[in-house]
Amino acid sequence: MPRPIEAIVHQPALAHNIARARACAPDAQVFAVVKANAYGHGIERVFDALRAADGFALLDLDEAQRVRDLGWRGPILLLEGCFETRDLELCSRLKLWHAVHHEQQVDWLAMHKTHEPHRVFLKLNSGMNRLGFTPSAFRGAWTRLNALPQVDEISLMTHFSDADGPRGIAHQTAVFKEATADLPGARSLSNSAAILRHSQDPAVRADWVRSGIMTYGSAPDFPEHDIAHWDLKPTMTLRAKVLAVQHLREGDSVGYGSSFVAQRAMRIGTVACGYADGYPRHAPHGTPVLVGGQRSTTIGRVSMDMLAVDLTDLPAEGIGSEVTLWGQGPQGAVLPIDEVARAAGTIGYELMCALARRVPVHVE
Ligand code: PLP
Repeated sequence: MPRPIEAIVHQPALAHNIARARACAPDAQVFAVVKANAYGHGIERVFDALRAADGFALLDLDEAQRVRDLGWRGPILLLEGCFETRDLELCSRLKLWHAVHHEQQVDWLAMHKTHEPHRVFLKLNSGMNRLGFTPSAFRGAWTRLNALPQVDEISLMTHFSDADGPRGIAHQTAVFKEATADLPGARSLSNSAAILRHSQDPAVRADWVRSGIMTYGSAPDFPEHDIAHWDLKPTMTLRAKVLAVQHLREGDSVGYGSSFVAQRAMRIGTVACGYADGYPRHAPHGTPVLVGGQRSTTIGRVSMDMLAVDLTDLPAEGIGSEVTLWGQGPQGAVLPIDEVARAAGTIGYELMCALARRVPVHVE
């Protein structure tokens, strides 16, 4: 018997969520962002469900190669562009679109002896201060690219730092508008938070949106609104079974460090999931779980291979009961990954990406 833990990638949910991105931004084409191995889901596992997108956006050339190997002939955008000059060769061969965010990438293109002209996405640093040309350098970079025979199309992009936060997008959209005024070319601004929250704002209307975390059923601005509000569905479930049941008396402790001490008689289940499976070790006592589809919580510290859950008020549950750590539970019950992330002081992105290799993954 394999260890009773598994993850499920839900293809219908992926298809639903990418359709939601399209519905929110009906005038735009949609990149499905599949970087970081499709946010931990596995590119090959999500591909069929996301074919309805107009393009894929990712970081690594090997991930781009994998998408081409799956038979995708449409657009693929390298969100960080090339990392060194020889990447341009593979870009040409795989017909990749690529971001250009610093002068050196323009120099590499100028030196590149290419047969295929390149489509580039010139990136503006409108306030994130991570990647991109400053507003004052942007036009100069555009002019240089426009003069290169190696470049046949220049699109314009930026990335929001706070589309899900209190600062919003007003400042960055104004900077983008001014820096790109009168320049020809397709535009791409919105990530998931902007797609969900700001699509009604004419300032973000663009030719392409980049749907990342919403594709995977996580709401970027949780807790203000959860995924039910945005009509998103969880695309990854992590579930495991109860291996043992312990009966605690008042004063008994649980797990390493005895950090949890029972204040009353309790029944707890020991579950086959720990931090070596990707469950966050820093998830505190009281983090939500579903046991047989009913809400309960973790008890005490998470250890490498196990964690404990409260079964006191769930007398029908015991050894072999199914515990949903996040995602879709039995009988339509849902535990959004964002809820677990919030309890653990992190974000859904990190939990998805951290799913451990040892956890078997099934596609449904
Ligand atoms: N576009 C760019 C340039 C990104 O770096 C990312 C992710 O970090 C995305 C789009 C997708 O963002 P999100 O997952 O928040 O939708």
